Amino acid sequence: MQVNWRYIHASRNSYAVLYAACEKEVFTLTPVDEPSGQVTCYSLNSLNASHYRDEIAAADCLTIVGGPHATACPEEVAEFADYVVIGEGEFSLPRLLRDIASGGEGRIPGVLTGNWHQPADTCVLLDRYPAFSEMKGYIEISRGCPFACGYCQTPQIFGHCMRHRSVDAITRYANRHEQVRFISPNAFAYGSDGVHPRWEKVERLLAACKNQVFFGTFPSEVRPEFICNESLTLVNRYCSNKKLHFGAQSGSDTVLQRLGRGHTVADIHTALDRCRDFALEPVVDFIVGIPFESDEDQRATLELIKETARAGKVHVHRFIPLPGTSLAGSPARTLLPEVEKTCGSLALSGRLTGSWTRAEERFSPPE
Ligand code: SF4
Repeated sequence: MQVNWRYIHASRNSYAVLYAACEKEVFTLTPVDEPSGQVTCYSLNSLNASHYRDEIAAADCLTIVGGPHATACPEEVAEFADYVVIGEGEFSLPRLLRDIASGGEGRIPGVLTGNWHQPADTCVLLDRYPAFSEMKGYIEISRGCPFACGYCQTPQIFGHCMRHRSVDAITRYANRHEQVRFISPNAFAYGSDGVHPRWEKVERLLAACKNQVFFGTFPSEVRPEFICNESLTLVNRYCSNKKLHFGAQSGSDTVLQRLGRGHTVADIHTALDRCRDFALEPVVDFIVGIPFESDEDQRATLELIKETARAGKVHVHRFIPLPGTSLAGSPARTLLPEVEKTCGSLALSGRLTGSWTRAEERFSPPE
């Protein structure tokens, strides 16, 4: 059976992971620029889904769609795709392909097809699946997040219980990269429950990686309350990055609390201080236009953006009401003129990047 993967830059790491998982079942996901073969698979996020909808609906082959948007809105996606993979794909996608290849109707747990659906009957253990194979990708070291930030789809897809790839498995893949970068909802939470750090486990991981390691920076940020003497000592001892990327999101404790962030503005200040002490440049994410933020909250965020920009770099994004989150359907509030003006001038001076006026630019544009 000819199985293709619709190549979309934004989902390239999902491609690497699912290529390897399907290869184990003797299916090769050939990259294509349009649907073809007997089956074409897609991974869509909530901003590019509408771009691919007509292409999928008009496809002359069977189509399988997974990814964050399929998980958040499976019934909507089932209107234009033959099969919708809900949640993790490593087990469900090869199982579905096997069923289709043997003439089945694709009634697989974790898949929605027509009016048929049964919830997934498995939870993926990372060590049971390759991080990548021929199609290289970043190494996912942890999955799941115990927090439930109001704007974030991650816990809806992967659950609230953190799972980790073992050090032995990670180093096997790390040896295949000259520069090693990891995927995690919070790299400093490696080996832990996501709330209580386990620095001895982080150290064991970093000490075992022999190549250049970038940790707590692209593509996995960290949480501010995990930035402390212990974590930064490990970064400076074992890692090559001179930057640390973390999410602050707001300069208002009221907003942080309503978002469910689980940290305070004081934690953000402490994180900035620790970065300075350890000579690491902070790169900090903020969201503006959060639906319930008051003018005063937005001004507090602006002050923190300015303070952060004096110490490092700032990424500012306009709030997006992603489906499947608790803030789905809540429109972004307007920005104060001083917020737009300051973000613009910080961007011109090279201290700020992001899409504070146009939320859609937050994700890679479809090719
Ligand atoms: S934003 Fe980060 S900490 Fe919050 S729920 Fe998402 S992954 Fe977890």
